Order: sequence, then structure tokens, then C-alpha cells
Amino acid sequence: MATEKLYDARPYDTEFTSEVVSCAPGKAPGTWQLVLAGTLFFPEEGGQTPDRGTIDGAKVCDVQIQDEVITHTVKRAEPFAPGASVHGVLDWDHRFSNMQNHSGEHILSGLLHSLYGFENVGFHLSDREVTLDTSGQLTKEQLDDLERRANEVVYRNVPVTCVYPPKEALAKLSYRSKKEIDGPVRIVTIEGVDVCACCAPHVAHTGEIGLIRILDVMRTSSGMRLTILCGGRALADTRKKEDALAAISHLVNLPKEEAAAGVQRFADEIAAKKEEIKSLQVELTAVKLAAIPGGQTKNLFLFEGPLPNIVQRNFVNGLCEKTSGLAGVFAGSPQGGYVFIIGGRGRDAREAASLLREKLGARGGGKPEMVTGSVHAEEKQIREALAALS
Ligand SMILES: [Zn+2]
Repeated sequence: MATEKLYDARPYDTEFTSEVVSCAPGKAPGTWQLVLAGTLFFPEEGGQTPDRGTIDGAKVCDVQIQDEVITHTVKRAEPFAPGASVHGVLDWDHRFSNMQNHSGEHILSGLLHSLYGFENVGFHLSDREVTLDTSGQLTKEQLDDLERRANEVVYRNVPVTCVYPPKEALAKLSYRSKKEIDGPVRIVTIEGVDVCACCAPHVAHTGEIGLIRILDVMRTSSGMRLTILCGGRALADTRKKEDALAAISHLVNLPKEEAAAGVQRFADEIAAKKEEIKSLQVELTAVKLAAIPGGQTKNLFLFEGPLPNIVQRNFVNGLCEKTSGLAGVFAGSPQGGYVFIIGGRGRDAREAASLLREKLGARGGGKPEMVTGSVHAEEKQIREALAALS
């Protein structure tokens, strides 16, 4: 027997009383699969996650619909008795937020359809994000214009109606999401903006949506995925981002409008400083190399602070000129341990790499002339490990 969708006729009600039709043990221990004669709980359907709330004070963890029967997963020690009367309470903030976001999505999809002929090819409304997939692509300017027009529909505060038209009327009606389905089709109309088949609860007037924001766009081969937020969630998101921008503006000591330019200036300065440090390191390594006597036969291993790869490599090449043994430079890594490059003119540098791998779990390898890698160990441990080289 189909469950009566109380949310269809009474989308603004937050409490209801209904009769238990059946109650079976749920998959998770301590949960029950509860079917009622009627419910205000909107199930997971049409891309929207289910309503939250309680039934007789017990938490409703999930709501699903199959063959028009709505099943609530309820967390409670004891089962519900068939025929008993129960009282349901909806998490209204959660539901109203879903209504704001879903109605906002219809406005955007309706405008995308009427202005550009695009189809909505996907919709996802969860507590984490709201996305809308559409069949075509728009420029940044067109998206800004779309957002502006959508908010104008909010200002106009036009009515939103949800009805099940008779079959003959439905056949003549032009609407989005038209599919051949058995049973009654629910039509959601936003006056002058959109007509669409939809099963979800909506706000009664567009003014209740408050704010419609397009936050992000991801282009796909044939269309776009828009990340949107409406109503209270859009306001909270704006507040969070405004606070983040205020923090950045404070850090760069510039007004919010100029903060990005300030950050860019810092990035440019850091890049210039890096180049400066690099040329100083080249000079410093040249001085260090000059102080090392040539013609040696022993292995030479130096431990340094962090070095750019090219500086470290040239340092090792210079060191290789000084000895017929192995020559290596261990540059301190910001993540701890060392990044190493070891070269050998007279002998196989891979011997050193395999010792470090076996004794200290180092990563990396290379050719007989040069090996590179990283090792998480102290200088003392590394020197001890390499002392085993013949
Ligand atoms: Zn819908």
C-alpha cells in the first residue's frame, strides 16, 4: 500500500501523527525499518538527501521510497507495534534549507532552459553540497547574468505551486523532465519562470529563497557542473568567505578589494627571494668546493641545509672531481631527513643507495654514476650506515 505523502499537501507542517503499518528489524543493530500510513518525511529521491527528525522521540537515520512505499530507518531499542499511533517531528531547519536550495535550483535550471535551451542532466542536494549539471556551457559573464536574473526572480516573490494535473491536461503541458511514467506526475510551477516535474517539497513563494549563489563551475566535455547555494546556507557561506577575506586583507595590510593583488605581490617577492637565495647558494657551494683538496681517494659525504636540486647536483659533480671514491651531498629536507645525491667517478654509487635502503629504509636509486633519493634519518645514522662501504 502506497504511503500517503503528507509533505505534498502540507510542506510547511513540522509535526504529524500516523499509524504504524509495519516494523521490521533494520540492517544495523538497534534500528527498525518503519512504514507508516502517512509521513511528513521526504525520502531520498530525485537527487535530494532525506529529511531528518524523530518518530516518538527516536532518531530517524534514513528515509527511502520504493514502489511508493516510504520506509524510515529509526534507531530505537524496542520495535514499533503495528497499528500503534506514532508522532513524528521534522528537523525543520534542515528541511527548509532543502526547500530553499531545491526551489533555487529550479529557478536556475528554468532560466538555463528558457535563455539557452539547456537541459538539466543532474542534480545533487546533500548537506555537504548542492550541484546542478547542465547540457551546455556558459562564459563567466553569462553565469554572472544568470545569477543576477535568478535573484531577480527571488525579489519578485512569485508563487511556486505543486499540483498533480489530470492526464489530459498533463499531455498538453510543456514542462522540463518530461518522462513517460505510470501514475500521477507532480508539476512544480514557478510563475513565469519554470514548469518542471518534481517530487520534492518547495517554498511557496520565491522570496523565501532569500539568496541564490553560483559558487563554482566545472566544465565537462558537453556541459557544466554548477555548485550552487541558496538561502541560509548561501548566507553562511558568504559570511565564512568574508571572514577569510578579512583575514587575508589584514595579513597583506590592504583593503579587501585589493587583497588578491597584495597576495600576488607577496608571491612575486617570494619567487625573487628564492632566486636570490639560489645564487647565494651557488656562490657558497663554490667556496666550499674550493676549500676541499683534490686528488683524494676516500668517500666524501657532506651534510647541508635545504638546497635547490640543480645546486645540489652541481655541488656533487664538483665534489666528484675531488675524489676517486664516492661523493655525496645530503640536503636537509623540510619534511625531516635528507634528500641525497651521490655520484662516483671511480666506483658504483648504487652501493651507497642500497646500503641506505637496507639499513635506514631510504627511497630512490639511479645509475652507477649517480643515485638520488631521500632518507629519514640523522646525519650520525647515515654516516654509520655508509661506513660499511668498503
Ligand atoms: Zn526538483
